[in-house]
Amino acid sequence: MSPRGRPRRKMVVVIVDGLGDLPIRALDGDTPLEAAPTPVMDQWVEDGQCGLVDPLEPGVTVETHAGTGTLFGIAEDAVTRLARGPIEAAGAGVELQPGDVALRCNFATLEREDGTLHVRDRRAGRILEGQAELAEAFNGLGSSNGITTVLTPLSQHRAVLRLSGEGLSAAITDSDPGSGAGAQTLLWSRARQSGDVAAERTAEAVNRALLHAHEVFAHHPVNRERVREGLPQATGLLTRGAGAVTDVESMVVSRGLRGAVVGADRTVLGLGALLGYTSIVRPSFTGLLETDLAGKVAAARDALDGHDIVWLHAKGSDIAAHDRRPRAKRDYIAQLDSALAPLAEEDVVIAVTADHTTDSNTGRHTSDPVPALVWTRGGRRDAVKVFGERGCMRGGLGRLRAREFLRVVLSTAGALREVPASGRPAARPARDKASGDPLP
Ligand SMILES: [Zn+2]
Repeated sequence: MSPRGRPRRKMVVVIVDGLGDLPIRALDGDTPLEAAPTPVMDQWVEDGQCGLVDPLEPGVTVETHAGTGTLFGIAEDAVTRLARGPIEAAGAGVELQPGDVALRCNFATLEREDGTLHVRDRRAGRILEGQAELAEAFNGLGSSNGITTVLTPLSQHRAVLRLSGEGLSAAITDSDPGSGAGAQTLLWSRARQSGDVAAERTAEAVNRALLHAHEVFAHHPVNRERVREGLPQATGLLTRGAGAVTDVESMVVSRGLRGAVVGADRTVLGLGALLGYTSIVRPSFTGLLETDLAGKVAAARDALDGHDIVWLHAKGSDIAAHDRRPRAKRDYIAQLDSALAPLAEEDVVIAVTADHTTDSNTGRHTSDPVPALVWTRGGRRDAVKVFGERGCMRGGLGRLRAREFLRVVLSTAGALREVPASGRPAARPARDKASGDPLP
């Protein structure tokens, strides 16, 4: 660390969502990364080091929020406890207080029949207008039993429900039945364990809110208009991902480093916001295959002014793999590679890796480790020259966990102490290299 406590070099960590993949027959057995022309990243591998990274630990398949969380510096045990509700809320700028419970919501089409609420459309036809009016009507509920419930609409059918009050618990079940086969009905929220008084009270509050939403929305002018236009009505809410708002720690924040996240994906930006990282998003950033990659790279370079570490998140690779389009994934990786070229002009540490592997054969996440590289001018080199899953197996970084990988990035940038806090290495006594005897 420099005398002012800043690292010697700044860092850019490129998270290519779902970058890792498996051999693809249509690509002659290569992975999309291996099949893509990537001269920029290949140069970083040739002049730097590569390896394989396990997002959490070997054999464990993760979602984006966990795989990104470890790359953001969150401890592995904390990352597995993260719920999506608070992440989405932080991403939407919803003010949360410790003790609050936040849930992800969908505006949905619900119909009452035989005393049950049937789910006709989990996304209310991907509603585009009127969500603010519906939320405003809902929020007239105020508080009941000492619990205040506030609904904040996000984009399309998505929203966040925040519960505030004494003695709440997030240990409750989802009311969203999910998209599985069969007739779907709204599932009333319950405590995960019977006898958990706080969770039972919280689940009751959620259920009151669900009933209230159905009553308020069913006769709302927004829905009369939707009927006229032949659109599915937004006649209720579905909730999932309840999470208590707690302090989340990161090895980046605890070292006083200033972070920024460039991207468009709400989960990724929300996770960063939860940690206090600056969210950098522009209308041209879409989180889709067609996005402004050059604009993201320019924004990341700008963000180096005022931040020590900048994460650049690119989502298109994951979307292509989920759609089982390996060629589209390959082409997206090639486009990203060209867009990254200007980064090499910065005197920074550059890292490229992924939050998880997404198999383009099946469209699913797998537990396979992800390719990773680290480069900085004058830094250590290994013998690998091309960025790809197979090359990374032979890389100098070996195989390490995402948190260890981040530590390597921080260390390469001079952002870690070289010796333990005691001031001297806590290792065994020094030994003579040749004889193995302790030195005098
Ligand atoms: Zn992902």
